Amino acid sequence: MTRFASLLAAAALTALPALAWGNQGHRLAASFALKDLPPDVALWFRSLEATLPDHASDPDIWKGQDPTERPHHYLNCEPYGGPAAVPLDENDARNALGPDLFRQSGQVTWTILARVHDLTEAFSAGDPYQVAYRSSILCHYVADLQVPLHTTTNHDGKETGQRGVHHRWEEGLVKRLVDRDGWEPEIRPASLGADPAGAPWAWLRESYALVAGVLRDDLSASSSAPQVDAADAPYWTAFMQLQGPHVKEQLTLAAQRTARMILFAWDQAGRPQPPAARTSAHPSR
Ligand SMILES: [Zn+2]
Ligand SMILES: [Zn+2]
Repeated sequence: MTRFASLLAAAALTALPALAWGNQGHRLAASFALKDLPPDVALWFRSLEATLPDHASDPDIWKGQDPTERPHHYLNCEPYGGPAAVPLDENDARNALGPDLFRQSGQVTWTILARVHDLTEAFSAGDPYQVAYRSSILCHYVADLQVPLHTTTNHDGKETGQRGVHHRWEEGLVKRLVDRDGWEPEIRPASLGADPAGAPWAWLRESYALVAGVLRDDLSASSSAPQVDAADAPYWTAFMQLQGPHVKEQLTLAAQRTARMILFAWDQAGRPQPPAARTSAHPSR
């Protein structure tokens, strides 16, 4: 590729619609994940706090560069017969659907566990920058799984004549909450809890359970107030009233659940102290 062509390609990438919370939602979830960590684990991120929001949308950029990346961001429950029927084991899931349908149906739950594994290695290696960077990447996928429409084949309302509902929920409502109301996620301390490896499947069931409400409320808001595309359309007041509380809760959960997965990785690595803390325990003369 010539330099000009690669510049063009880069420009095309930045123009891609950023599906999945948009940059604003991903940045918020990543920043607040740090606030939900216990203080001894938060020490790993000291002076690296900005790394989390700054890289939290990188996986959306990768989708434009790598065609195999997109299915890492979602998991469609319907091909399995519903969220409760999605196997924990990736090979069982592949066998249940066959390789092609398995690939198309998305793998966000397994992607989260793979990113926890990467983060565990960074904790074991004692590398604070990699801990921060890999936590940011992990946060992206955890946050995507908290978006109800990332769990269904009807991910953009095409099956129900509600095209654009994906963007309206995860970006339109977030933008209005943050820019207009200055809203921020609630700080909700995370703990490791029982069965952290199974947690993404519990989140899948919870997110899927919200799908019908998102679609119903979008329909109800747009029937009482059409012209949903106008920035100040009355549609937004109605949709915000119905779904705003869910957007706030899912973003708060995205932060808290990311913190829980960071704790999971830290625990698997043997609960190491950050290198700086080790150094200060043995000051050099
Ligand atoms: Zn999305
Ligand atoms: Zn994504």
